[in-house]
Amino acid sequence: MAGPDGGTGRGKDPLRAALPLGTVGGIPVRVNWSAVVIFALIAFGLAAWDFPALDPHQSPLTYFLAGVLTTAVYLASLLAHELAHSLVARRYGVTVKSITLWLLGGISELRGETPGPAAEARIAGAGPLTSLLLGGIFIGLAALVRTGHPARASIPGVIFTALAYLGVSNVVLAVFNVIPAAPLDGGRLLRAVVWWRTGDKVKATVWASRAGQVFGWICIAGGLYVFFLTRDWIWLWFSLIGWFLAGSATAEAQQAVLAGRLRGIRASQVMTPDPVTVRGSMTVSEFIEDYMFRARHQGFPVTGDGGDTVAGLVTLDRIKHVPASQRDRTRLADIACPLADIATASPEDSVADILPRLTECADRRALVFSDGHLAGIITPSDITRMIDRLGSSGPHDDKPAPALSADVHALLMAIRQRLAADTAPVPVTSATAPLPGSVRSTPATSTRW
Ligand SMILES: [Zn+2]
Repeated sequence: MAGPDGGTGRGKDPLRAALPLGTVGGIPVRVNWSAVVIFALIAFGLAAWDFPALDPHQSPLTYFLAGVLTTAVYLASLLAHELAHSLVARRYGVTVKSITLWLLGGISELRGETPGPAAEARIAGAGPLTSLLLGGIFIGLAALVRTGHPARASIPGVIFTALAYLGVSNVVLAVFNVIPAAPLDGGRLLRAVVWWRTGDKVKATVWASRAGQVFGWICIAGGLYVFFLTRDWIWLWFSLIGWFLAGSATAEAQQAVLAGRLRGIRASQVMTPDPVTVRGSMTVSEFIEDYMFRARHQGFPVTGDGGDTVAGLVTLDRIKHVPASQRDRTRLADIACPLADIATASPEDSVADILPRLTECADRRALVFSDGHLAGIITPSDITRMIDRLGSSGPHDDKPAPALSADVHALLMAIRQRLAADTAPVPVTSATAPLPGSVRSTPATSTRW
């Protein structure tokens, strides 16, 4: 029988701690708490400073509503950007697991391989194109409002400011995200081009992620440098973005190198054959008595009541999370990760292809089926062992990152800062006449974030 399985209990992805917003087109949309905080800050900044400064003499309620609505529409624009990626990805047979909005923008979690460089380019390009289109629409609407009501310091003035803000934010969202550095959309476009020119996907991924690492480090160093010169903390925000980009790009580069090494290895060469299965009708208490302390593995395929058909997989990690008081009534089938959410493969499949499909749900285990019968199980440590055998000096990280399309909305802060800094401070109290061609705001010295 098999050797011991790999370790469990790895750190949970902080992005998993997200509030479900609902589903759009069958794709779960979630908001991480960090996004809630940042969007509350944006709404507050707009309502408390920007709108009163640009269009004075309105009621606090007007500013509050304008701030909240503008932020909500911005959030919806960001979501539209992510949905564009996801819907195009789905058209090419790539599974979209979720869309999460968080501190730095949006993340679409994709599973499965893109069929080719053209599909890759279209999936990556759909997001920025959507933002550009939205930006154009908002700027056009702003121009309409301005033509109809040239006076600022009025309700239409507030609407103009909100539309102009949304227009510029969306255009900057599009432009920043096409910088050719993974995991930004531009990095995906770069990967598509290199993949198309060389026919080598691994090489293309390495190129795009190296570009992401370089760009990330430039952001970190540049942001810190300018921060120390200007003491303007907005630059620390760029450093934070750089840190995220460099980290994600490094993980992607490692995964690409790993995939390259595992290319020629078949599932049958790494799997643990004939794993011990357990019945789904068995309670957690029965399992703990009969299996837990004798078992040498940590993952068990669960069979349905009808016989040997595999319906899911339980891990010791899942079993440990069942409170002692409920162990008598909880069946293994209740806590198993369903088969639909587990990576499955045939013995001939390449391990490099299975690697990106390993999901958190089954603690990154894959089940191998031969002619419809369970033939084996692949654990992260099986793959790590194979990498060791191949003489890899590479990372021993058994947690492959899912393909992410990450978008950064740092720009928002930058725009707000620019609005404040680029224009001559005009005393708010005397601001009744419109300043053609410029946007007035509070002095740049006000600290907002
Ligand atoms: Zn994007």
